[in-house]
Amino acid sequence: MIGKEVKSTCSYCGVGCGVVVKKNAHNRIEVEGDKNHPVNKGMLCSKGMNLHYVVNDTSDRILYPEMRWSRSHPRERVSWDDAMNRAAGVFKSIIRKHGPDSVGFYVSGQCLTEEYYIANKLTKGFLGTNNIDTNSRLCMSSAVVGYKKTFGEDSVPGSYDDIELADCFLIAGANPAWCHPILFRRIEKHKEENPEVKIIVADPRKTDSANFADLHLQLLPGTDVILYNAIGRQLLKKGLIDKNFIKNHTEGFKEFKDRVMELSLGQSSKLCGVPASDIKKAASLIGRSKGFISMWAMGLNQSVVGSDKNFSLLNLSLVTGQVGKPGCGPFSLTGQPNAMGGREVGGMANLLAVHKDLMNEEHRKEVARFWGVDDISPKPGYTATEMFDALEEGKLKAIWIICTNPMVSLPNVRKAEKALKKAKFVVVQDISHKSDTVDLADLVLPAAGWLEKEGTMTNSERRISYLEKHIHPPGEARPDVDILCDFAQRMGFRGFNYNNTEEIYREYTQMTRGTNIDISHLSYDRLKNEGTFQWPVPEYRHAGTPRLFQDKKFYTPSQKAVFNIPVSNGNSLTKPNSEYPLILTTGRIRDQWHTMTKTGKVARLKTHYPDPVLEINLVDAYLNNIKNGDVAEVKSPSGTVRLRAKVTENVREGVVFMPMHWGKQLNHDLNRANNLTSDRVDPLSKEPDFKYTTVSVQKFRKK
Ligand code: SF4
Repeated sequence: MIGKEVKSTCSYCGVGCGVVVKKNAHNRIEVEGDKNHPVNKGMLCSKGMNLHYVVNDTSDRILYPEMRWSRSHPRERVSWDDAMNRAAGVFKSIIRKHGPDSVGFYVSGQCLTEEYYIANKLTKGFLGTNNIDTNSRLCMSSAVVGYKKTFGEDSVPGSYDDIELADCFLIAGANPAWCHPILFRRIEKHKEENPEVKIIVADPRKTDSANFADLHLQLLPGTDVILYNAIGRQLLKKGLIDKNFIKNHTEGFKEFKDRVMELSLGQSSKLCGVPASDIKKAASLIGRSKGFISMWAMGLNQSVVGSDKNFSLLNLSLVTGQVGKPGCGPFSLTGQPNAMGGREVGGMANLLAVHKDLMNEEHRKEVARFWGVDDISPKPGYTATEMFDALEEGKLKAIWIICTNPMVSLPNVRKAEKALKKAKFVVVQDISHKSDTVDLADLVLPAAGWLEKEGTMTNSERRISYLEKHIHPPGEARPDVDILCDFAQRMGFRGFNYNNTEEIYREYTQMTRGTNIDISHLSYDRLKNEGTFQWPVPEYRHAGTPRLFQDKKFYTPSQKAVFNIPVSNGNSLTKPNSEYPLILTTGRIRDQWHTMTKTGKVARLKTHYPDPVLEINLVDAYLNNIKNGDVAEVKSPSGTVRLRAKVTENVREGVVFMPMHWGKQLNHDLNRANNLTSDRVDPLSKEPDFKYTTVSVQKFRKK
């Protein structure tokens, strides 16, 4: 409706900025930042400001179901009825022949909570397998392990409002200036108004975040544990610790102390490549601060030692007693708008809904009772990379991919591509033909996108927002929950005949009753009328919970927070060698988001980086006879890419950087960063390592 304003939440990163949307006289969508939203107070970053272009341009949209009867035939338009009957028929047949663990769902941190909930209920409760995982596995599962083992549950303690109350920030393995810009703008403003506020950035690259910092710890890739343990050692040495908090509210301090004392300051400094004086300075800033916040993202999580990196960083908050008070706390930044909501409903292969534990028999029974099914399988499902390994091995026969583009985002992507081609049946449910994954689907289902459906999301600070439907989806596209419930009913399952999305939300919120994430009193009406809320919201008039653990009672059996001891110091599996002498780290650029299926449509967002470039240090460029703008050929044990070199001092000697966004469709196969990455994962979180791949680089010469 022209002129009618609706409030929504940005569909990109986990900051969760509020936007006001309306249609202009030409029936085009316009967006602006919501001045009354507690997260962004009217601000939007370059991606958020251009959301309307993505919605208004429907040229790439999937408009109707497409199906192929065999791999030798092209896909053709079919009716929804034919498409859904085929999906149900094939799934039934595969399950009958090979059992429930032969099918799986691969979903996304962009799914709304209701969609995540239904996909999880369908898979774990009714299909009888735990083979549902999410692309959030690729970005934050190490943080989940960190929180669970430290606090007893996957619970972010603080709020963005703690930013303005803190006086020291350690931004670790993150570049919020580009990847969480509105959050970073709040930090910048806070520092501009309070020059005594100190910012430390730990990153192998000189990023915009690092350039703004008071102290940049430019560590060698993979040595984070050594660095944070060295800071911990220094805090102990200088007595900059909270003895009362440690004694009364933590476990494992002795083991922590023993571990951080293993290496001298000099040894740590040498191993992580950070001057000892800078380690001392970081410890002094952290230890003397009144409010210390650590913020981290993929630089810590995406690693074969991602859980260890999380432990070592979380330990700094425990040893300084900086948890559960205003202006402090560890704070993981989620990369996707609803990665947190997915965690709440248990949308991962090893989780159950409402923070219940798949390995706990009583929890499985409780969830089964709630859904009205006999039982939940005790066998953990395949995680993201395991799912593609299982396709390769023929154990997984059918995969249903929702709202994600693994043919760009998975590590060692050529291997994953081969695996997907081996699948007996691939369903892709998405909005855009620009996804490389759509090309490999046997059945393509057109889904409704942002503003075309209703539902809820949770941002990085546990803030739940309601997203209103504002426009009709194009063509025959349908909301994801409609598609999933339709499929479930064609499979013959009870419990999926909801009248609307609100009924799904209500069912989920009743499941949270009495848990630590209780939102059983948070209705759609309250969200629509009163705005956003941070969970838990356990009573009818409850205003939400900005800060957890203010009573210093944690969710562990002893109610104490736990110092977890990192097992390893670094990426010991691979080291640079004569064949692959450099370390590749991949990441994001300011104006693109994930695999560019949305931001890649916006011309003005391409001006910042029209094409991917390889950042290479002056010395390495000289040694490899590469000049700025040359085409460099980068090789790893997994594959090859070719792209222009950008000779820069922003990366240190021995390290190269490449953005991860580009896939085959947007350029060509040789620009895909994940041709190079390995599929090694962290043993606890099963999160892959996108931050440490040994590579060789040489100037490309056409033969
Ligand atoms: Fe959207 Fe994130 Fe930018 Fe906010 S910071 S406008 S949520 S992309």
